[in-house]
Amino acid sequence: MPERARRLIPGGVNSGQRNVPGLGDLVIARARGSRFWDTTGREYTDYHAAFGPPLLGHADPDVDAAVTETARELDLCGVGVTEGEVRLAETLAELMPSFERVLLTSTGSEATFHALRVARAATGRRLVVKFQGCYHGWHDSVSLNVISAPDRVGRHDPISTGILPEVLESTLVLRFNDVAQVRETFATHGADIAAVIVEPVPHNVGCLLPDQEFLAALREECTSHGSVLVFDEVITGVRHDLGGWQRIAGIRPDLTTMGKAIANGYPIGAIGGRADLMDLFSSRPGAPVFFAGTYNGHPAVVAAALATLDKLRAEPVHEHVFRLGERVRTELSALYAGLGVPAVVAGYGSVFVTYFLAKAPRSYDDLLANDTGMFVGYRRRLLDHGIFELPLNLKRSHLSYAHTDDDVDRLLAATEIAVRAQLADPTTDVSGASTMAGALPC
Ligand code: PMP
Repeated sequence: MPERARRLIPGGVNSGQRNVPGLGDLVIARARGSRFWDTTGREYTDYHAAFGPPLLGHADPDVDAAVTETARELDLCGVGVTEGEVRLAETLAELMPSFERVLLTSTGSEATFHALRVARAATGRRLVVKFQGCYHGWHDSVSLNVISAPDRVGRHDPISTGILPEVLESTLVLRFNDVAQVRETFATHGADIAAVIVEPVPHNVGCLLPDQEFLAALREECTSHGSVLVFDEVITGVRHDLGGWQRIAGIRPDLTTMGKAIANGYPIGAIGGRADLMDLFSSRPGAPVFFAGTYNGHPAVVAAALATLDKLRAEPVHEHVFRLGERVRTELSALYAGLGVPAVVAGYGSVFVTYFLAKAPRSYDDLLANDTGMFVGYRRRLLDHGIFELPLNLKRSHLSYAHTDDDVDRLLAATEIAVRAQLADPTTDVSGASTMAGALPC
């Protein structure tokens, strides 16, 4: 099968993010709850979670029932609106503090693309500010590598070839959590900054927690310079709080992008925020900012989102994943201390990641010291114990409502064995497995 895949599909996989060294022969056959199985019958407890969507676990029965029931009645007509779309807009507006309007897309990248387009249209300005460690999708304005080294801040390190230099030059990359640099950049370029886009928690490099004063400074500078503040909550929204990180931080962005966990794995994105900006989209008659998508608001996907959000509100999902997350972080920290391995187990709620660093990182620069061999090496060894944490540098792991304390017991036991084995034989070939070396984030 892998050979057949590689014959027609470049690299044999359908996303650059799935091009993972050592996993070239992995063919997935089945996924349920906290687990997936490959075609050789091997079972893995899944902490990769497809980069984040299945917060309820794979193939959640309530979500799948809603999808099946909807599919019996309705599929895509591509005209008008459905009751499900209206209910989903109402639900998202109820949950997200800053949503005066909302539009659906099929992916997170589309949502961030439209956020930047409307920001440029509304302000008539050119520049977009983003931050090291943050990923916002595959499109050109944000395709600057998260690995810009400290001496390259503000310069252009594209994630891809084929991007026009003038597009890259229109994006400034700043250090996350660096208030002084934000203030200086606005002092110099403020009149030309259309938008600031930020992952409020840069999860694309694991988990860097934001200083409250940093997010507050972004809000202040955008307000005083008339720039649009975009919170990219594709990961944080729903997973960390039903009101997103904006509710946790008490900061109101102008626009917010969402995706991933909203529909537990069905393809969806959303953009929401200030009415004056959202009303510029061409879904409204005569409005100037073109917005379209054949699959936007697909009834089955909308049904999945509604069932997911209903379940997240009705059942103690966050309580469960936060408790397991706390357990994993505490017990992994103790495990590494017991082994004498310098490590910081970072994370928030259902997300955890072990950095092999002496102290907790605050910015992307701090992550440059992570021991990549250890990070990738113990994760490759975990595969032999049926535990799947993506063996790529700086990738975060996720817990779901379907994970249990028994799963966590097994994770801890397997981690200890894998780390001990890695310490005994630290030679790990990490070529291609290091985000430092250019592997794409997600
Ligand atoms: N923003 C963030 C914060 C993301 O993590 C991702 C995907 N990893 C995206 C945007 C892009 O979403 P998609 O892959 O659905 O296009």
